[in-house]
Parts: sequence; structure tokens; C-alpha cells
Amino acid sequence: MQPDPTGTAQTPETDVAIVGGGPVGTFLAILLGKQGKNVTLIERWTESYGRPRAVTYDHEIARILAVLGIDSETDPAISYHDELYYWKDANRENLQIVDWQSTSASGWRVRYWFNQPELETRLSGIANQYPNITQIRGYEATALTQDADSATLTLRRTEAEDPTSTATRSIRAKFVVGADGANSMVRQSLGITNEDKGYFFDWLILDMIPQFDYVASRKGEPAQWQLCDPKRPTTIVPGGPGPVPGGPARRRWEYMVLPGESVEEMQKPENAWKLLAPWGVTPENTVLERSAVYRFQARWANEWNKGRCALAGDAAHLMPPFAGEGMCAGLRDAFALGWRLNAILDGKVGADVLHSYTSERKEHAKHYINFSQELGSIICISDPEAAAERDRMMKADLAARNFTPVPTDICQLGPGAWCADTPHAGELSVQGVVEANGKRDRFDQAVGFGWMVLGLNADPATALTPEQLGQLAALGGHAVNIGPKGAACAVVDAEGTYAKWLNGIGATYVLLRPDFYVAATAATPEELRRRFDEVMGRLHIKAAAQA
Ligand SMILES: Cc1cc2nc3c(=O)[nH]c(=O)nc-3n(C[C@H](O)[C@H](O)[C@H](O)COP(=O)(O)OP(=O)(O)OC[C@H]3O[C@@H](n4cnc5c(N)ncnc54)[C@H](O)[C@@H]3O)c2cc1C
Repeated sequence: MQPDPTGTAQTPETDVAIVGGGPVGTFLAILLGKQGKNVTLIERWTESYGRPRAVTYDHEIARILAVLGIDSETDPAISYHDELYYWKDANRENLQIVDWQSTSASGWRVRYWFNQPELETRLSGIANQYPNITQIRGYEATALTQDADSATLTLRRTEAEDPTSTATRSIRAKFVVGADGANSMVRQSLGITNEDKGYFFDWLILDMIPQFDYVASRKGEPAQWQLCDPKRPTTIVPGGPGPVPGGPARRRWEYMVLPGESVEEMQKPENAWKLLAPWGVTPENTVLERSAVYRFQARWANEWNKGRCALAGDAAHLMPPFAGEGMCAGLRDAFALGWRLNAILDGKVGADVLHSYTSERKEHAKHYINFSQELGSIICISDPEAAAERDRMMKADLAARNFTPVPTDICQLGPGAWCADTPHAGELSVQGVVEANGKRDRFDQAVGFGWMVLGLNADPATALTPEQLGQLAALGGHAVNIGPKGAACAVVDAEGTYAKWLNGIGATYVLLRPDFYVAATAATPEELRRRFDEVMGRLHIKAAAQA
């Protein structure tokens, strides 16, 4: 426990107070702490929440984690399977094939596998390296008030050694973020309602460590798949590397709890072993890490920012994990909120920019909530006739597509700080391998990240006005000329990725945001200047940042 940093001071004693030290709150704390902000992270438990939940994240999260130096390709705590993702009927015939094998346009593999408690512990360790991030563990936030200049949280001690303590204290912050999970106190205190899709399914989650090469032992079975058997819908996927470096990997089985089954009985270890026996998994050859039933739900908060407060992660949205996107959505929230709060606290942009956090992120998360629910409606069929009809339709569709795997979709942000009428704006930007600064690597690692204006074989610095270049510099941004080897460009488009991307839409320039989303594309210097002003206008740029 760190010294009591709270008290009764009337001026805000911290820039941002974040309620909830889960992956989302901790990641946001790091993003702000890295930029020198004073952050207070309040977590009710003294230790990281040990229950495995998320096991997979997508390419965008790999790109985001790389900002912290976590390389999903080489990190021993992260794995991938160079394989497609299969949905099969009870007879093991293919219903659907999803492309989880490719490298995505954003530069990283489509899917990675990991263990959520390990990631949380690691993020907490990174946060601890910043003296300007104070982690208050063992305190629960119980109330929130705000005025025009600050927001105040009341905290109550929850530490195990003092379970009866009712001692409270308060903390006053310039901004408060509720990353406090599904039952968010912050959301409730702000009077924010949820749009609930009325979706509830209970699933048993079994986290296992087979002490043998499980995938190799199951000849002909994929590493990652759904068994759409109406008798017991089941998910069989990796669980990331095991707890011992180089040792056996984790595996995850998820079983739908059928109507009439008891949750208590389902999660008993003896039931786990009964369910796992057909897979050759027994107490003799496998360690049971955890057996627990979770209720899957689908809902989102109607507002994600109010006054000096905002919501992120499960506090703002919940989705069934069939698409493996819940934590991903939360980390995207943190990334989107991080650059905005940093710019507000730096005095570069007005606090109104938080409205675009809500409008952009809510629509994006809704896409994944709806998608996850659709997947669930296919998987969670326990009626044999309905399942037979589903199987017939899906097989016909798959055959009509000549068994081509479905690519992962591109999802656009909701309306906000980007120009809707330029191609690719509002989408995650393409990322290629470049040569720059003596390195050959992905663009983000070789050149950097933040606001970027890229020019294909054209120097954006000569296209933007001096005032615009001043604004870009004030936001910590860069103008980058990218082109083929031999051209007079600072950055070499080593594999022609940028030429293909921008030529494909007839654009010469692209304006990128710190969260890697495209703010605008432009064909000519004149259009670039116009689009640049449009985006800056949407950011509520402050006069001080104009010089
Ligand atoms: C079975 C299952 C499988 C999943 N699989 C995936 C997957 O494969 N991929 C994926 O992307 N997502 C997955 N998810 C979703 C993912 O686990 C969550 O979206 C993610 O944990 C949300 O992170 P968070 O930080 O927003 O919230 P949480 O992880 O819930 O953290 C919130 C934190 O806030 C603390 N807190 C709450 N209230 C207070 C308070 N008043 N004061 C102080 N502290 C407080 C809590 O103790 C907690 O530590 C899965 C979820 C489940 C249940």
C-alpha cells in the first residue's frame, strides 16, 4: 500500500482518477502516466483479479500493446496458431470457416492468445514504474460528485485485514474515469442508463493446462473451433502459453449450461472431468486451473461521458465472448480516451472533445456487441430441429462460397473527429513494413505514433500552411513523406503497402490519429489543407495550440 495520497485539499490533487484496476483502467493509467499526467488508480482488491476471462485479442490490440513495448509476436506470454477458425456441426462437418490465419492490414496477425490475469499483473507492474501513477489498492469508490472544475470520489477501505472498517476518504481529480466493470459505481452515480439487449446465457468456462501436447494429440481437429452440437454447444480454443515458460500451454473449453441444469453442479470439478473425458483430458494428465459459470450479456451505456467523467471497458459495454472482443473493445476505449485526456490536460484541446469519444466508440462497440450476439444466436441452439435447419443453411452458404474463409470485418467509428466523406476515414489505418531511422520494421515501431500526416511521394510539410504545421507540432504530430526505395523520401515503403493502399483510393495524403484511425484522406495539397482544418475543428483545438 502506498502512502495516503488523498486528503481534504480543495484543489484537484490528481489529474485523472480512474476507478477500476482491471486491464482497461490500468492501461489507461499507463497511457496518461507515460505523458507525465498525475494519475490515481483505485482498485477495490489488493491483488489482481485472478480469474481467467479473456484468452484472445485481435490485431488492433496487438498494435496498441506494441505502444507499451509488448510484442505479441515474440512475447513468451502470448501465442498464436497459424490456423483457420472452424465452426462444426455435431458430426464434425464444417458450418463456417473464419480467417484467423492471415496477417491483417493493420500489420499484425488477426488473433493472439494469452491469459488475462497475467496481462493484468504485467500492466500493473508497468504502471508501478511511473512515479506519477499512484495505485490505491484495497479501496472501493462508493460515491462520485462533480462541479465545473473537478470531480470528487469517496473511497472506503476494503482491505482483508480490516474487513469491518468503515473509514472513508475522498480524492478530488480534474477528471474521473469509471473503468469499474459491469456493475460500475461511476455509471450509476452519473445516472447513466444502459441499453440492454435482454440477452442472457450461462456458460461453464474450464481453464485447463494439459501436461501434454493437446493439439498434436487430437489428429484432424483444429486448435480453435466451435462445436455447434445442440446436445451441448461447446467452444474449444487455446488459452495462451502456460504458467511455466516453455512448458505446457493452456487450453479453454466453454460449455453452454442447458435449460434446467444447476449452475452449482455444473461448476463442480467432478463435472469438469466428466465433460472433458471425451477429449482425452483427465485429472491424471491435466491441471484444472479454474471451473466457473459466467452469465453472458449484451448491453451498452447510453452515454460514455458526462461533465468531467467518462466510462470505459465493461462499465460502458458488455458482450458475450463469442467474438473474443470484450476486452478488445475496452482497450480501444482506453486508447481513444487516453489521447483525448492527454490533449485536454496539456491545454491543447477543449474538454468537448470527449463528446466524440462517446459518439465514435459507442457505435464501434455496438457493432461488436451485435456481432457477438449474432454469433451466440447461431451457437446457443439446443433445439435439434432448429440446429438441423441452421446446419443445412450454413453448409449451403459455405458451399456456395466455395469454402472460402470469411475475412475479419472492418468496422468504422461512429461520427466524430474524422471526415466521413473521404475514403477509409474512420477506419483503422493500414500499416506496412518501412525503412526509417536505421530500422526496418512496422511503421509504428520504425517511425512512431501520434498525429501523423503521411504523403505518398509527396512532402506534407510543403502542402500544409505554416499555421497548420504549427498546430500539428503543438499536438506532438509529424509530417512524413513516404515512398519507394531510391525516392527522396524520409520513410521507405519497403513492401509497397502504402502505395497500394493510397493509390487504390486515388489519395496522396492521409491524416492519422494517435489511436491509428484515419481522420481523413486527400488527393491534393489543397484538399489536405481543407481536411486538416476540418479535423482540427472537430477536435475543439484551443487557441494556445494554434501557434
Ligand atoms: C468467460 C469470459 C471470456 C472472455 N473472453 C474474452 C476474450 O477472449 N477476449 C476479449 O477481448 N474479452 C473477453 N472477455 C471480456 C473481458 O474479460 C472483459 O471485457 C474485461 O475484463 C473488461 O475489463 P475492464 O477493465 O473493463 O473490467 P474488469 O476486468 O471487470 O475490471 C474492473 C475492475 O474494477 C474494480 N472495481 C469495480 N468497482 C470498483 C469500485 N467501486 N471501486 C474500486 N474498484 C472497483 C474491480 O475489482 C475490477 O478489478 C471475456 C469475458 C468472460 C466473462
